Amino acid sequence: MLGAAVLAVVLISPGLLGGLFRADQFMPHATCYLRNPRIIGLHVTSDLLIGFAYVAISSTLAWLVYRARQEIPFHWMFLAFGLFIITCGFTHFMEVWTVWRAVYWLAGWVKVVCALASVATAIALYRLVPRIFALISAVKISEERRVKLQAANNELEAFASTVSHDLRAPLRAVQGMACALTEDFGGQLEPGAREYLDQITDASRRMDVMIRDLLEYSRVSRSEFELKSVDLQVVLAEAQALIEADSKERGAKVQVEGPLSNVVANPTLLTQVMANLLGNAIKFVAPGVRPLVRVFAQDKGNHLRVCVKDNGIGIPPEYQNRIFNVFERLHSQAKYPGTGIGLAIVQKAVARMKGQLGLESVPGQGSCFWIELPKG
Ligand code: ADP
Repeated sequence: MLGAAVLAVVLISPGLLGGLFRADQFMPHATCYLRNPRIIGLHVTSDLLIGFAYVAISSTLAWLVYRARQEIPFHWMFLAFGLFIITCGFTHFMEVWTVWRAVYWLAGWVKVVCALASVATAIALYRLVPRIFALISAVKISEERRVKLQAANNELEAFASTVSHDLRAPLRAVQGMACALTEDFGGQLEPGAREYLDQITDASRRMDVMIRDLLEYSRVSRSEFELKSVDLQVVLAEAQALIEADSKERGAKVQVEGPLSNVVANPTLLTQVMANLLGNAIKFVAPGVRPLVRVFAQDKGNHLRVCVKDNGIGIPPEYQNRIFNVFERLHSQAKYPGTGIGLAIVQKAVARMKGQLGLESVPGQGSCFWIELPKG
């Protein structure tokens, strides 16, 4: 814009440009310095260094704003600083020039431009101060909130862990008593009473599994896990071994399609994630359908996406986010047994491994759960 203005002025009045460069009868600075090479060298070197440093600083600022303008608040202020600094740089270059040639008119006008840029920056900075203070206090508040939220989360997880532990003891007593009652007095009980007893045993067993899963969720949330290069092939073999009994019972076919490269993960967490996804993939199929599961990888640059694709019942779009919540289930125990914590553990474990998780699913046409981890 400045260049365009200068060009316009030059075109309108060509004599002006020549006038700018005239030296009249003025003496160059070298005369004042009595042509002493040491003092000339001192001034010229310093002015050149200052000038080039200013150009470097303003170029860096411009590059910074260009690369990160979305993240830098008030990025235009950086540009104003850049303009102010570069015009200061030019005043130093003029100091060098005027050592030998007395172009004081041009030097004066360069100073005018520098003065305009400086005054504009000073005014803009002054007006910006309240907004900077507001930003600082907003950052402080959000940091305080983050710390409080983190503390509350930790407390909640510690609470869940303790409560789960403590709940187990009385539950064991209920289970033990129900078992003793069945063994010692089962024969004397009416059929209706026996049924009640069976229901107590069933419910307490289910609650025990839920507490166990909740403890597992809390362990995944709170424990320290080391991340390292992990062989996916080995992890998948272990996960398959964990679901083998279920898999056999349902006549499932799990097909792992190689090659699968290494990923950065924690072997225990990753095995747990894959076992949960495979377990679900062979469980949630329509009655009479043989579960067929494909596990394959897709290259995503620095990451590897591992997909578990099934031929199951699928998940309606409106539930696809909710199923990752603790205890969230879409079916009755009778139809598909479970606690509703598996996917919450998967989500937490993937987050702990700094990975991503997602799914694509169409009701009646199966689901594809995927996780993305850095390549190892
Ligand atoms: P659980 O398997 O114990 O029910 P999860 O947390 O693993 O709990 O899954 C939550 C719910 O998400 C399941 O109850 C089911 O409704 C749905 N779901 C999970 N995986 C699948 C799948 N592969 N196909 C269809 N539905 C699924």
